[in-house]
Amino acid sequence: MRLDEFSLIGQIRKDFPAAEGTKGIGDDCAIISQKDGMETLISTDMLIEGVHFLIDRISPFDLGWKSAAVNISDIAAMGGTPKATFLSIALPKNMSQNWIDDFLKGYHNISERYGVSLLGGDTTSSLNGVCINVTIQGECPKGKALTRSGARPGDLICVSGTLGDSAAGLKCLLSDDKDWPELLQKHYRPEPRINEGLALSKMPGIGAAMDISDGIASDLRHILEESRVGAEVELSRIPISESLLKICRANDWDPYELALCGGEDYELLFTCRPDSIIPIPHHQIGRITEGSSLKWIGSNKEYKGFSHF
Ligand code: ADP
Ligand code: MG
Repeated sequence: MRLDEFSLIGQIRKDFPAAEGTKGIGDDCAIISQKDGMETLISTDMLIEGVHFLIDRISPFDLGWKSAAVNISDIAAMGGTPKATFLSIALPKNMSQNWIDDFLKGYHNISERYGVSLLGGDTTSSLNGVCINVTIQGECPKGKALTRSGARPGDLICVSGTLGDSAAGLKCLLSDDKDWPELLQKHYRPEPRINEGLALSKMPGIGAAMDISDGIASDLRHILEESRVGAEVELSRIPISESLLKICRANDWDPYELALCGGEDYELLFTCRPDSIIPIPHHQIGRITEGSSLKWIGSNKEYKGFSHF
């Protein structure tokens, strides 16, 4: 039988319930209550050569950047402030010093930009490609974390920016097409939405939130499951960049397939009460409904997000 990422996580979650004072598996970060009115947020993400990146198609600087960025994004998803990371790397024995220097420059660059300290990690050799694991710690005031379980029927569903650019960038890099630097840039250098997450966490009326790593066709389902609600999304409201439209026209690709299923946008997906003030640029794409189904208005296609198996 083929492995299923989310069934496997479900199995682990069932056997390892969260301890008192913590929120464990099921959100972008775990939450651990502290005595000083703050909560600690923790998350971890792996990047494996051949699965998440091709070593000859990404510069070591960008890989360093992206390894930290995707983790910082999980803190953004909770409306938190990132504080510290731990970096574990497994490298083939013949990795060059230049590669390592540039990887660390990229990691350093984004860490400085978001005020995150690298506090530890682990280093080992690898027989089979580069493996990177980053664990991140952040914080937020008690009770203020944005979670996947806060959506209610009637909420508006919003995203913080255009979708599908990173997925199109990935197609460009796989086909060696250098004509779309802005799409490649979105793929190589995702910008975690820390300021946007913080702004949302301070406003009343925000429901659920998460970052878009696997495409909303998959990610929105996590919000629906955790909040026990359904949703309707209008395809005509999905924000699609000019560049994505152009490249899709040129190649006869379906922009919605890339926008909904592509992943790695690292924009925020959130819900809010209809009368709430949203303090960040955003696009409303649908509504939360009763029930548990996800309806795409404007298409008969069944859209599915990225899954690892
Ligand atoms: P994200 O896309 O935000 O990184 P994932 O889809 O990777 O989140 O994971 C969903 C949830 O499952 C998270 O709470 C994560 O910590 C948890 N999780 C994933 N894999 C494991 C694992 N092997 N053991 C325990 N928890 C896991
Ligand atoms: Mg996430």
